[in-house]
Amino acid sequence: MSKYWSEITKSIEPYVCGEQPKDKKYIKLNTNESPYPPSPKVLEAIKNAANGDLRLYPDPDCDELRSTIAEYYNLNKDEIFIGNGSDEVLAFSFLTFFNTNETIVFPDISYSFYPVYAGLYNLKYRLAKLQEDFSIPISEFIGKNGGVVIPNPNAPTGRYLDVDSIKKILNCNSNKVVIIDEAYIDFGGDSVVELIKDYDNLLVIQTLSKSRSLAGIRVGFAMGNKELIQGLNRVKNSFNSYTIDRVAASAAMAAIKDEDYFKQCVEKIIKTRERIVKKLNSLGFNVIPSEANFIFITHKNYAANDLFIKLREKSVLVRYFNKEKINNYLRVSIGSDEEMDFFIEKFQEIIDEV
Ligand SMILES: *Cc1c(COP(=O)(O)O)cnc(C)c1O
Repeated sequence: MSKYWSEITKSIEPYVCGEQPKDKKYIKLNTNESPYPPSPKVLEAIKNAANGDLRLYPDPDCDELRSTIAEYYNLNKDEIFIGNGSDEVLAFSFLTFFNTNETIVFPDISYSFYPVYAGLYNLKYRLAKLQEDFSIPISEFIGKNGGVVIPNPNAPTGRYLDVDSIKKILNCNSNKVVIIDEAYIDFGGDSVVELIKDYDNLLVIQTLSKSRSLAGIRVGFAMGNKELIQGLNRVKNSFNSYTIDRVAASAAMAAIKDEDYFKQCVEKIIKTRERIVKKLNSLGFNVIPSEANFIFITHKNYAANDLFIKLREKSVLVRYFNKEKINNYLRVSIGSDEEMDFFIEKFQEIIDEV
């Protein structure tokens, strides 16, 4: 704390991301990155983009990248907004659509960045209570809300909400923006992006960080009615005109265009997930149904925090949240088959030791 900090800086509670330790080599199953490299075409595009044009500012509107995404999702270019990772898109969205005198709502177990943005902008929020099995009750989102934010599938639980349920939430919040954060939608769920045509209050946010193996490049995007997008642009252009650099834009375009490679990676991850779920079940774990590239697990005989520490000692990093309701769970990203076998092996060792 410094006397030079503004009141807001003193009061905010910044987000803490999953650790990226450098002391030794770990099997990283803690931040939901892809175990597979980006498409070779992406690497090629990055090399080609590293040229003399880097002396020039990039296109502030990311026109070409927006066209690429528009084509992919059968949308109009002006229904797309690009940001420096979907975290930035979320941060801009909270400022663009929510008012300080109203109360927004998101699940009580959810992406822990949402309360951080709310704190930063001084927004009031209500936490929608999830069921015991972490499913999302629609009833919690009915009523007078200042806006709604739901990750689908939810993080860190992996639970998925079907399109009809989201329609109901959109219908009963027709005067407010409903943000569906689809960071993990490619791992088994159906996107609600098609509903944009019917619902002018829907904003769908996606990222290239998970299913397209590009967490290191920082590209996310929002899709919605063009007036929502215009609002986002007003806010973005009040911060920074050039949030996406030339290299990132080229990489992102190549990633979206290489659909075959993307599908292969996603299919492999889903297959590994299903295999590991079965294994964990046979070891006595309760695994929450997941449509994401991670699983949320608990064991009635072993404390999650102990398992977390012991796994770390054995060079496996998973995510543990010391938070009410979920403090006996571990979130485990789906790695490659080899990584997941190593993880199961270490688990087995820990179980045998106690
Ligand atoms: C990973 C994640 C994001 C952020 O992704 P970036 O595009 O890398 O910023 C957003 N929402 C949820 C729920 C996530 O898990």
